Amino acid sequence: MSDYIFPPAVQPSVAVRGTAARYAVARIFCVGRNYAAHAREMGSDPDREPPFYFSKPACALVPSGSHVAYPPATQNYHYEMELVVAIGAPVFKVTPEVARAAVWGYGAGLDMTRRDLQAEAKAHGRPWDTAKGFDQSAVITELVRASETGAMAAGAITLSVNGIEKQRGDLADMIWNVAEIVANLSQLYHLQPGDLIYTGTPDGVGAVLPGDVISGQIAGLPSVSLTITQPD
Ligand code: MN
Repeated sequence: MSDYIFPPAVQPSVAVRGTAARYAVARIFCVGRNYAAHAREMGSDPDREPPFYFSKPACALVPSGSHVAYPPATQNYHYEMELVVAIGAPVFKVTPEVARAAVWGYGAGLDMTRRDLQAEAKAHGRPWDTAKGFDQSAVITELVRASETGAMAAGAITLSVNGIEKQRGDLADMIWNVAEIVANLSQLYHLQPGDLIYTGTPDGVGAVLPGDVISGQIAGLPSVSLTITQPD
């Protein structure tokens, strides 16, 4: 029986539609850019770049519907509306066909971003951790089993702020589809249940301020929402 100097942190987890059981989260991977129009708005050529990844700590998860304080150290706090994949089987160095079967479920998520810190990191060739992996930066709805949603290969993905539409894309416009992302990421990591993957955002990203209410929709999934409050 081991003792700890401080009590262990609470296990990060996500609600699951239709059950009281929760999906325990170990890691959060994010795809850097996965829609051509968003890659262009961020100054990249979408046709020439393979997927790349960054991560957020699991403790950055925030349930949809939360109120979060405007984060510190930024003046350009952005939303990114994303489809989130929940892995349900161990996969390592697999093909897209095998990867597809390892997808347990889906959620709708917001990859909240301190865009000014990201721009500074890019300019200096530094890591993105402070821009992407900060407190409360990974918003997520309850998960829905893939057996209920189907493959999520196409369908509208939209986001509005205070009722005004800001992002509108289609899952079919992903540069790398879900199976390809999981297969590619499995070349780098032993993926396992507990791994979430934020799959990238369409174009139309932008800043929010205290008082703003973000609402995002993906066909077939619960809506994701977030209200921004005054800074701590
Ligand atoms: Mn993103």
